[in-house]
Amino acid sequence: MLAFRIGFLDITWLDLLDIGLVAVVIYQIYNLVRGSVASRVFVGYLLVYFVYMLVKALGLPLMTTLLEYFISVGALALIIIFQQEIRRFLLLIGKSTNLSNNQLFRRWIYREASPTDDRPILRPVLETCKTLSSEFSGGLLVLQKNDDLSRFIQSGEPLNADVSKQLLLSIFSQYSPLHDGAVIIGDGKIRAARCILPISNDEELPPALGFRHRAALGMSEVTDAAVIAISEESGRLTLALDGKLFTHLSLTDLGVRLEKYLYTPRNGQ
Ligand code: ATP
Ligand code: MG
Repeated sequence: MLAFRIGFLDITWLDLLDIGLVAVVIYQIYNLVRGSVASRVFVGYLLVYFVYMLVKALGLPLMTTLLEYFISVGALALIIIFQQEIRRFLLLIGKSTNLSNNQLFRRWIYREASPTDDRPILRPVLETCKTLSSEFSGGLLVLQKNDDLSRFIQSGEPLNADVSKQLLLSIFSQYSPLHDGAVIIGDGKIRAARCILPISNDEELPPALGFRHRAALGMSEVTDAAVIAISEESGRLTLALDGKLFTHLSLTDLGVRLEKYLYTPRNGQ
């Protein structure tokens, strides 16, 4: 095995590979927990682990045993503390592999009729955003991509209506019984209004962003849908995609991002 020596250490290429892989794993875990309280726990746990490695290398038996107990109990505690993150991680994997929920897969496997091009909905959607934003009326719009959204549609009032600016504006009018919650648009139709979306636990969100924005982000964390939030406080347009929020968007910017995200083929899709 090829090896070289740094000081008193003999290092092989396998050691380098090992260190590299561990660094990548730690970095990925850090990325996953960043921003949550769990990130501080993660750093704390890593520190304890390094101290454990150190006392073990130095040959301090009592301290090693003590830390060993701490680390084995800690592993169980970590699963409890990181519940949310583990869930998010598994959802992320599930999101990309949940084939039966994937429209493209269903169309291919079950030969489901390909829906008409969804693109015409963008125009009325953007016009609605423009009006809501200028009138400081709140709004929350979910645009389906590939993932199945039936469980969220079921939480609201089913509509299955053609997408039009007039209808969307009447739904979000503050006098409408349907204005609370989110409108879900999929397969070229307004599928439902008054839908309840999952709330994100992201602790890095600025406090100025309330539950409408948390719901937009939460929905984009668990599905691949694009979610638009229009703030009733500031008229600001926000877009949530894949667990990320893009705030202070101009209407043009919103349109470009939506078009790119929803209709530009990626990964051979
Ligand atoms: P704004 O900038 O418009 O005030 P905000 O982010 O501060 O938005 P809130 O003021 O808390 O959020 O907005 C409350 C509105 O957001 C509710 O009236 C409701 O319509 C919507 N909303 C809040 N939580 C959810 C949810 N889980 N699912 C769907 N809609 C929600
Ligand atoms: Mg608010």
